[in-house]
Amino acid sequence: MFGEISERQATDTAPGILTIDLGALVANYRALQQRAAPARVAGVVKADAYGLGALRVAPALHAAGCRDFFVVQLSEALALKPALGADARVYVLSGLQPGAERACAEAGIVPVLNSLDQIDDWSRLARTQGAELPALLQFDTGMSRFGLSPEEAEALAADPARLAGVRVLYLMSHLACADEPGHAQNADQLAAMQRVAAAFPGVALSFANSGGIFLGNDYHGALARPGIALYGGALTGGTANPMTPVVRLDVRVIQTRTVPAGARVGYGATHVTAGETRLATIAAGYADGLPRSLSDRGAAYLGDVRLPIAGRVSMDSLTLDVTALPPGTLRGGSLVELIGPHQTLEALAADAGTISYEILTGLGTRYHRVYR
Ligand SMILES: *Cc1c(COP(=O)(O)O)cnc(C)c1O
Repeated sequence: MFGEISERQATDTAPGILTIDLGALVANYRALQQRAAPARVAGVVKADAYGLGALRVAPALHAAGCRDFFVVQLSEALALKPALGADARVYVLSGLQPGAERACAEAGIVPVLNSLDQIDDWSRLARTQGAELPALLQFDTGMSRFGLSPEEAEALAADPARLAGVRVLYLMSHLACADEPGHAQNADQLAAMQRVAAAFPGVALSFANSGGIFLGNDYHGALARPGIALYGGALTGGTANPMTPVVRLDVRVIQTRTVPAGARVGYGATHVTAGETRLATIAAGYADGLPRSLSDRGAAYLGDVRLPIAGRVSMDSLTLDVTALPPGTLRGGSLVELIGPHQTLEALAADAGTISYEILTGLGTRYHRVYR
């Protein structure tokens, strides 16, 4: 999109720079593939690949051998499909809104059918067209969110004509607690998935998300569906993160100042300086995915030096206490690290009282993006 020089200019002057390491993404894909083998590994690229850009992320995964891609909405699938080779399968997790069946079939997109109504609609279209239409069937194994209940699954298994014209590629379910390996619900859901598999013999399973891949071979099924692990997110709270970081976020200083003791900082005057304080206001706020819950809690870094957020996060900026740095270290145009080697995505999310998924998907569109 940019020539080389203007790309550099854009990077040099951008208020914030989001660096997305596609090499690390591919390394994570390969590591997950190794772990899940012989299962295939899909790429979950919903919500614009967790905010990182599905049109950059999915082709990079495709080049690394990934052929299965999950999004949530049909519109996401329609935008993604042309960017991938004809050998890529794109699945829509939320299935089909009534009336969307024809557009889905025409685009060659595979729905995840979550209810008997969705199954009936897809089967009707297949019979009308006199063609087989592919689908995944989702089952509720304990999350009470999507999929057929155990009773509906039983009814469907007893009445296979209901699936006339539907070629079921995978039986699918989703784990609620895969990020807590010790949680008893994991084994409960596995047992429920195995009951579904027994009711539909010979059909492959798709079960594990990122965390599920690390719960053991029983959970892998034939097609694993990692999202967050591809993007470098940690799988569980307690243990070291085995994935390679993909995201780095640096934000520029707009202005610095030195204030005396008793100065009030930011909206609501919630922060009052205890002594003479050096402050730096930086060019990202809650509209850029740095939640307001980071007010007086989070920090940025310059090298190893922690620079606490002083006062409330504004829409487009926040103010850092940079007293720990020698005077003059930061000035207009300096970059500080929000996500990177000194502050992980998880650390920032924890300070904000949320999870890595919500930080990534909230980063917004105002950062200058550099794909490596
Ligand atoms: C989002 C999602 C995934 C990916 O989950 P991660 O925890 O990011 O690996 C897999 N399956 C379904 C059904 C999802 O909604």
